[in-house]
Amino acid sequence: MGDRSVGDRLKDFEEVDCGLTPQEAIEEAGRCLQCKKPGCVDGCPVNIDIPAFIALIAQGKFLEAAASIRQQNLLPAICGRVCPQETQCEALCILGKKEAPIRIGQLERFAADQERAKGLTIPARKALTGKRVAVIGSGPAGIVAAGELAKCGHSVVMYESLHAPGGVLTYGIPSFRLPKDVVKAEIDLILAMGVDLRLNHLVGRTVSYEELDSFDAIFLGTGAGLPYFMGIPGENLSGVYSANEFLTRVNLMHAERFPEYDTPVARMN
Ligand code: SF4
Repeated sequence: MGDRSVGDRLKDFEEVDCGLTPQEAIEEAGRCLQCKKPGCVDGCPVNIDIPAFIALIAQGKFLEAAASIRQQNLLPAICGRVCPQETQCEALCILGKKEAPIRIGQLERFAADQERAKGLTIPARKALTGKRVAVIGSGPAGIVAAGELAKCGHSVVMYESLHAPGGVLTYGIPSFRLPKDVVKAEIDLILAMGVDLRLNHLVGRTVSYEELDSFDAIFLGTGAGLPYFMGIPGENLSGVYSANEFLTRVNLMHAERFPEYDTPVARMN
């Protein structure tokens, strides 16, 4: 997969990787041995049927490949970009013993991007069960839990304390690595399945714990948002940020565009 030129990347914060072309994707997929006991699937935390979707790409059936991935993973465009495939599925690809393993992550991303370009199809839902589930936190865990619960026919309310959904996908990962329109498209698909997203709702304050009693189940996906300080001199000085605060100021509050946006970030002159 190629990168944009350094000259171009100096001028903006757009995505660095260009993605595969259809021809490159077909060629890469064609290298797959379609193993009977695929190590790649064992290496995938959600056990995507990797040989199946790769075979579809090799046949030029890109949308079918994306649909195949979505059976196990509702966030293929995100995972194709930010999962550490080199230590997971690709690390267990049999081809890695003699040559480069199949670029599974790049192929996953390719299929998902093709699907997004054509218009995402809302996954089917089972008949409503009458059960209600509260999902607290709209980061990756909350989003996927909400989507899977909606697929099962449960009614889902997802609470987010910030003004934008996505959790670490939105505030923690810069757009040159994970474009925000990619995150938005995958979250929008989950909302289109009927998930009720309530932004600016801090559970325990905006929403009382008693109000949550009316739900049949509660999923806590609050993430690991608190920073860990090192206990060294100067860490409390003005202009010294934890990584979380710095990333939130820039990615979520657009500090790089201060004063157009209200939130600044300290700069060394
Ligand atoms: S282990 Fe590698 S070669 Fe075998 S099916 Fe998985 S991706 Fe293809």
